[in-house]
Amino acid sequence: MGVYEEVARLIKKSEGNAVALTGAGISADSGIPTFRGKDGLWRKYSPQELATPEAFERDPELVWEWYEWRISLIKKADPNPAHLALAEMERLGYLRCVVTQNVDDLHERACTKCLVKLHGDIMTAKCTRCGFEVKWKEVPKGVPKCPLCCSPMRPAVVWFGEPLPMEALIKAEELFSSAKVALVIGTSAVVQPAGSLPLLTKENGGYIIEINPDETALTPFADVVIREKASVALSKILESLLGETE
Ligand code: NAD
Ligand code: ZN
Repeated sequence: MGVYEEVARLIKKSEGNAVALTGAGISADSGIPTFRGKDGLWRKYSPQELATPEAFERDPELVWEWYEWRISLIKKADPNPAHLALAEMERLGYLRCVVTQNVDDLHERACTKCLVKLHGDIMTAKCTRCGFEVKWKEVPKGVPKCPLCCSPMRPAVVWFGEPLPMEALIKAEELFSSAKVALVIGTSAVVQPAGSLPLLTKENGGYIIEINPDETALTPFADVVIREKASVALSKILESLLGETE
């Protein structure tokens, strides 16, 4: 049995109780750069220097300029076969939910219905004072001001050192604790607590399936490893699910 048939078999055996954790790598095939790796640098800055509350305090213009660039790339991008395959797997009853660390909107545009966003939404800005939120249609220019209290607004994303939205984290923990299969796709699994969620599946007797061209922090715990791009691997998994494999 090939690895894709093996994965399809495990997913079918889970009887609709498979959950996916996605990271920046799933959107790499749509042309959106990941944080880690050679494309992770913007000008001379690394994301670790820009995606922090301290960076925003120090230089909000610079941080917004970086977000302007990231939002413009996301607006130009389309969901790729990996996003689409996950949405189709959900529609067919093979996948319960997608939990994502991504702040882009490609899972939404691929029509995934059950989606837990752990790190917020880059297309939304929130007031640093009163918390009012605005969803962007166009790429913002400069530091936006809150329409209610005139304070500076920031991207509604979770920065390094900030806590995750509690409701999303609790839902994600429930999903991974009860899942029989955790598909871990395109994440280096070093950002916590997101990177450890699949371990909950493993602790409860389920399987971890990793899809990533490179080794990650979760590789030692994975039951099946597919060293392939997300768009290629998920298309093949969907094909195997649809095929007469049993
Ligand atoms: P990461 O940058 O740390 O890791 C990306 C992972 O994707 C790496 O392990 C890499 O080997 C893998 N990868 C690269 N190309 C791939 C492909 N074609 N198919 C499958 N895997 C591929 O990203 P992370 O683990 O998501 O964590 C970093 C943080 O980055 C997250 O909190 C997230 O919010 C943020 N982020 C989000 C986006 C986005 O929304 N698209 C983009 C960059 C960073
Ligand atoms: Zn405000």
